[in-house]
Amino acid sequence: MSDINTRLVHGVIDGDSRTGAVNVPIYQTSTYRQPELGRNTGYEYSRTGNPTREALEKQIADLEGGKAGFAFASGMAAIDAVLRLYGSGRTVVISSNVYGGTFRILDKIFSHFGLGYKIVDTSDLSAVEKSITPDVSAFLIESPANPLMTVTDISAVSDIARRHNIHTIVDNTFMTPYLQRPIESGADIVVHSATKYIGGHSDLVAGLAVVNDEELAERLHFIQNATGGILQPFDSFLALRGIKTLSVRMDRHVSNAEHVAEYLRKHPAVSKVYYPGLKTDPGYEINKKQASAGGGMISFDLKEGYDHRAFLSSTELIALAESLGGVESLLCHPSSMTHASIPADIRRKVGITDGLIRLSVGIEDRNDIIADLETAFGKSKRV
Ligand SMILES: *Cc1c(COP(=O)(O)O)cnc(C)c1O
Repeated sequence: MSDINTRLVHGVIDGDSRTGAVNVPIYQTSTYRQPELGRNTGYEYSRTGNPTREALEKQIADLEGGKAGFAFASGMAAIDAVLRLYGSGRTVVISSNVYGGTFRILDKIFSHFGLGYKIVDTSDLSAVEKSITPDVSAFLIESPANPLMTVTDISAVSDIARRHNIHTIVDNTFMTPYLQRPIESGADIVVHSATKYIGGHSDLVAGLAVVNDEELAERLHFIQNATGGILQPFDSFLALRGIKTLSVRMDRHVSNAEHVAEYLRKHPAVSKVYYPGLKTDPGYEINKKQASAGGGMISFDLKEGYDHRAFLSSTELIALAESLGGVESLLCHPSSMTHASIPADIRRKVGITDGLIRLSVGIEDRNDIIADLETAFGKSKRV
C-alpha cells in the first residue's frame, strides 16, 4: 500500500481508463443502458450506484482503513443513515460536546421513532463504562469534540464497547483520515462532514460514512439506497478534488493553528485556550497517541472586560461564519451559532460560555491572521 500522501492524490480509482483523463469523470447520469434483460454493467440507477460517487466512496474507505464507504448529501445525512442502523427501543450514547446537529437529530427526530440517547462525558472512561445498559447499541463520539476540543480516548472507548457488543461510531470531521484514523484505534464506523476539511474550500456540502464490517456495509448500503440521501456526481467530484490536496492543506492548518494557539495562550485578553496540540491542554497526551497533530480548530474564552460581540464584528480578514475547515479562517460564537440547539442549561453545564469563541484557522499567512485577531482584541476591550 502506498503512503497516504500518494493515496490522497491518486485514490483507488485513478482517473478514467477509457480516455486516460487524469480525473474521475463526472458521470452526470441517472440511469445506465442494460445490455440485455437481467444483465447490467454494475450500475443500474444512480441512487443505488454512480461511478463518480463510487470513486469517492472507495477512496474514503481506503483512507480510513475500512471495508466500505458511503457518500451522502451532507454530514447530517450520513449521520442520519448510520443512526438508522439502530432500531426502536435502542439507545445511543453521545459525547457531551457532540455536534449540535447530532444532538438535534436524536432529540427531535429519532426520539419520535423510539431510538433514545444518553449524554455522557466520554473523556471520562468510568462514566462511559457506567452508561452501559442492555438497551445501548452504540457510542457516538467526537475527538476532539466541538467546541471545547475535548479529547476522548478512542481505543479505550472502543475496547469498552467491544466487550459489551456495542458499536463505536466516531465523527472524524475535525481531524480527517490524514491526522486520525479511528478504525485503526478500534472504531466500527467513521462519519464525516466532508463539507469541512475534506472538501476544504467552503464550496460543498457533503457527508461520508465508513464501516469496518461487511455486514454493516450491506446494511448501510441498503439504508443509503432505500432512503436516498446520496451525494450527487458533481459534488462527489468536488470532494474527490478536495481530497487530493488534503495533506498539504492540513499541514498548513496545523502549523498555523499551533502558532495561533501559542499567541492566544499568552494573550492578556484570553482566559483559556482549548487546543489539543498545546502541551498544556488536558487532552494533549491522548490526542498525541491517536492523532498525528492537534488539528486546525481552536477555541478560547475572552476575559471579563472584553466584549465578544465587539470582538466578532471587528475582524476584517477572518469572517464570522458557521462551518470550518476551509482554506479561509473563520470565527464562530458556539453558544449562539453552532450549539444554539443545545438547551442553555446543558450548554452552561458543559462549559460553552457566552465569551467562548471558536476559530477555524485557515491557510493564510499566520502573521496576517494574528494581526487581525490583535485588532479585534483591541476593539473589544470595554472602557
Ligand atoms: C458540520 C458538522 C456536521 C454536520 O455536517 P453537515 O455537512 O453540515 O451536514 C457533523 N459533525 C461535525 C463535527 C460537524 O462539524
